[in-house]
Amino acid sequence: MRSRYSAYVLKDLNYLLKTWHPDTRPVANDLGGTTLRWIGLEIVRTEHGSEQDSVGVVEFIASYAHAAGGKRLHEVSRFVRAQGCWLYVDGDCRLSDILRNGRCPCGSGRKFKRCCGLIAR
Ligand SMILES: [Zn+2]
Repeated sequence: MRSRYSAYVLKDLNYLLKTWHPDTRPVANDLGGTTLRWIGLEIVRTEHGSEQDSVGVVEFIASYAHAAGGKRLHEVSRFVRAQGCWLYVDGDCRLSDILRNGRCPCGSGRKFKRCCGLIAR
């Protein structure tokens, strides 16, 4: 999961496709998330995900900044294990705004409007 977040930050399309289950994998030019400016990842919880499991769930909040502010993507993702590798299947997600006076998701401790919210403009 963290490695897939990193791949979004680094715009590593090949890795994202390689770790996407073939049944739900999008076409290569349809990965919108790689054009966004990701600024933080918080893992809320994980279910299963050990060596013995074949399915796993990861709930996370990934944040990004854009020209008009910032968004938090809160997703519960499902993974399956195939040949020793975790593959992303799908997820339920909702978007919310990052409050301008709220703490910046990047971990700086500053307000969003004085941190990544500034750079976004
Ligand atoms: Zn920041």
